[in-house]
Amino acid sequence: MDQQLQLVENDELVALEQAWKQSLGLLAPGINRPSFESFFKTAKPLSVEGKTIAIGAASELARIFLEKYSEMVKTALEASLGQPVDVIFSVIKPVEKKPGRPADVRATKAPARVVSSISLPLNEKYTFPNFVIGPCNRLAHAAAQSAAGNPGKVYNPFFLYGGPGLGKTHLLQAVGHSILELHPRLSVAYVSGEMFTSHYVAALREHKSEEFRKKYRSIDVWLFDDIQFLVGKERTKEEFFHTFNDLYQMNKQIVLSSDRSPRDLSPLEERLKSRFESGLVVDIAPPDLETRIAILQSKAESEQAEVPFQILECIAILIQTNIRALEGALVTVLAYTSLMKVPLTVETAQEILSRYVIEKKFTDLTPDAVQRAVAQVLQVDVDDLRSEKRQKDLVMARHTAMYLSRELTRCSLNVIGKAFGGRDHATILHACKRIKTLMEKDPEVNTTIEQLIHDLKTGKL
Ligand code: ADP
Ligand code: MG
Repeated sequence: MDQQLQLVENDELVALEQAWKQSLGLLAPGINRPSFESFFKTAKPLSVEGKTIAIGAASELARIFLEKYSEMVKTALEASLGQPVDVIFSVIKPVEKKPGRPADVRATKAPARVVSSISLPLNEKYTFPNFVIGPCNRLAHAAAQSAAGNPGKVYNPFFLYGGPGLGKTHLLQAVGHSILELHPRLSVAYVSGEMFTSHYVAALREHKSEEFRKKYRSIDVWLFDDIQFLVGKERTKEEFFHTFNDLYQMNKQIVLSSDRSPRDLSPLEERLKSRFESGLVVDIAPPDLETRIAILQSKAESEQAEVPFQILECIAILIQTNIRALEGALVTVLAYTSLMKVPLTVETAQEILSRYVIEKKFTDLTPDAVQRAVAQVLQVDVDDLRSEKRQKDLVMARHTAMYLSRELTRCSLNVIGKAFGGRDHATILHACKRIKTLMEKDPEVNTTIEQLIHDLKTGKL
């Protein structure tokens, strides 16, 4: 009987592991890629008890990060399992290393490629050989290769921009890999706007800004991903500016990425924009059909899956603008057909993809979630948003949250009013009007709010 119980438990765990894999496929499009690789991919489902699923994070930092996305994780697991669940997170205890047999010693020797201590890890798949070239990205690819071949000498800074999921992070990290290979002595730091901001805020809080500055001055290659994240963050922007100048003056290679051109980073100051424009600025456009098919072919190959051309074509026709979504669609189709044991045909692919609406699901927002996001981004206390306090910054944040609740949730004015400490509908309408006017007049407000809308819609917040 014990044995039987064990079997049932094992079956449950296997099912859970499969569901987790599928959930990762669903979650990937909504999460910043380096964070996804560092925190989600390293997490594991640990147990299921009744409705409650425990997910183990690889570190305390990873757990904090996963908690931030707990609603999304819950939704994805529910979609994969087809039933409601609760999710809790804990930290996986590291396995103690066995005392050194020679083989172990060799295995734990420093890897060939070492990034600087302030760098996020580089994804081993984001290399030049894995990058499919098409008319949309040819120039960006060529420039990135040149920059990697002659760091600090040819294109400095190199500014790469384009919509989400078009390969900016991939190219930035490919530069990193390539430099580490060609110039192993150079210290490479791949940093995202989000990570730089958290590093800097933590350094300020812990009175370690000097140490922070020193570390950033010691790198030779600065790969800075998602610079648009700094818009509206005055102190971090200032710090970025000084770091940038110092590294630039020392002829260190700087590569930046952004979801828009330097010109459109309007609230970033002129002095920064003109520095970006003094180097090489290149955009990546959405891929055409042939390139999309080629990317899917390469992805299927790397997954060692044999997928008929018609199916790749079908996916490439349906998903046009985002390569991350394109890959996610292929993974979902493959996962679904293997889990459900249905044949891989154009019809099934189409049917699965018509249900591939996970992003939409995440826009099912509540005023509560909007308040939390606004509080986080504008750095105010979420309880204060619901209070009567009238400091200027707070009122602005409160009005922003009211406006976004009106725009993005399906709640009535009364329900929104209740969520803000029992205010009436006229107050909400007044706030919406004020924010709309401000957005028209003030580009900085406009960008901050557009970014919030984008991040809320895609589940980043
Ligand atoms: P971005 O940073 O522009 O949002 P990413 O670099 O994260 O986009 O790319 C999203 C996904 O698409 C990644 O898995 C990346 O490897 C893949 N990808 C993007 N462009 C290409 C390409 N030209 N060839 C192969 N894969 C690509
Ligand atoms: Mg990116």
